[in-house]
Amino acid sequence: MARITMKFGGTSVGSTDALQRATEIVRQHVLDGHQIAVVTSAMGGVTNLLIEGAQTASSGDGERYKVITDHLREKHQQAADSLLHDPDARAAVSENVHRLLDQYEAFCAGMYVLREASDKAIAAVSSLGERICAPLLAALLQQSGVASQAIDACTLIVTDEEYLNAGVSWAESEAKARHDLLPLIESRVVPVITGFIGSTRQGVVTTLGRSGSDYTATLIGAFLECDEVWIWTDVDGVMTADPRMVPDARVIPVISYAEVGEMAYYGAKVLHAKTVQPLVERNIPLRVKNSFNPSHPGTLITNEASTTPGTVKAVTAIRDVSLITVAGRGMIGVPGIAARTFMAVAKQQANVLMITQSSSEQSICFVVPEAKSRAVVAAIQAELAYEFGRQDIDSAWADNDVEIITVVGAGMRRQPGVAARVFGALGEHGVNIIAIAQGTSDYCLSMVVRASDTETAVRQIHKLVVLNGRNQAPQPLDQPDSQPAEEREPTQ
Ligand code: ASP
Ligand code: MG
Repeated sequence: MARITMKFGGTSVGSTDALQRATEIVRQHVLDGHQIAVVTSAMGGVTNLLIEGAQTASSGDGERYKVITDHLREKHQQAADSLLHDPDARAAVSENVHRLLDQYEAFCAGMYVLREASDKAIAAVSSLGERICAPLLAALLQQSGVASQAIDACTLIVTDEEYLNAGVSWAESEAKARHDLLPLIESRVVPVITGFIGSTRQGVVTTLGRSGSDYTATLIGAFLECDEVWIWTDVDGVMTADPRMVPDARVIPVISYAEVGEMAYYGAKVLHAKTVQPLVERNIPLRVKNSFNPSHPGTLITNEASTTPGTVKAVTAIRDVSLITVAGRGMIGVPGIAARTFMAVAKQQANVLMITQSSSEQSICFVVPEAKSRAVVAAIQAELAYEFGRQDIDSAWADNDVEIITVVGAGMRRQPGVAARVFGALGEHGVNIIAIAQGTSDYCLSMVVRASDTETAVRQIHKLVVLNGRNQAPQPLDQPDSQPAEEREPTQ
């Protein structure tokens, strides 16, 4: 018996077919004797439409939100009609659909009149998709013979007042979640909790940021001391590379939270550091699985993923970045230039993705998002005007025609040779490396290359370095780890 929080993403509850699959997955695991808590997203695309209707209303379009409301009524009504056989259950779900969409129309009508959409109002509007979906999924579980109850996370997750990207008060939320949910799961009632939303202490609805349902799931999983959290999505797991760029990209069987964190930072669409933090702290593993291919083992993410020394797990690329260089012979031995340069960058709210400085101190290079590059260069020129005047600094410029390639893997730690293989793969295919950085974590190695070289670089590194690694299969749930202790490399 295991206790598992299962989160279903938008596509995994996005159609009648998907809802049926999700129901069947939960039913099977309940039948297998597990205690399950479910966290659900809105049906795929619904949150976007809700927000679009509100925004167009606030900018003077009095029609679009009505079209969206009608569409959403029909979409959810159709799902309820075709899936729920019991007339009472169907009536209860459809009453909820129409009550919440009536609210939506009223909110949008107000925004249209006021020509205003505050963060508070957008949060209220965007919470509706989850609040419509959870009772539908709970009713489907009931119908399949699984005792279930829909729970509005506004009653569990306590947040601050940053309405669209709210910070969660863990202690208060934990107390509420344990109080309300433990009696349910212990008596085999599956709570179906709305992802993505919470409320302030005053009871005002907030959201945890776009795609926030994953965070709801990791919080609930941590609060309930689950054995694992499973994220059900529409891909087989975390991939070794973006499959659109690398056709032979594969699912990574086991990876650590630290490695996934680097991948998220460097452009892969995977779980972000904040999202997995509750599980990292409590040492709870997470699985990413495909609800359209549930027998695939997916990816297991843990604090201590075993790694084969010398291997690399994934390669990612970040586009739309710009390499800024500040150069001049007079910089040698002058303290404070780097500090003032980065203060100027910070004032532009530009996130620095990578930094390198040559040991001769004649230049500093760093990478920022391309959208900020003009402002950053101007800010540096202003900040260092005196040094420019004295010709201690010759120039500060942006090169937009670059991208970052990052290889990630704890197997690089203290292992010579990985960088040589990466650079070898690039050299053989004529890819020039413009700048290199390696974090002290040793989990990742980043290189700046010409934008036109990115695809070749990613494919060659994937072929020659990532696929050459030996990856082991994930341990099934409830089975002791058979990996010998000395092969396990702690990554935290
Ligand atoms: N429905 C929300 C969104 O689309 C949250 C989520 O799906 O995770 O952002
Ligand atoms: Mg660029």
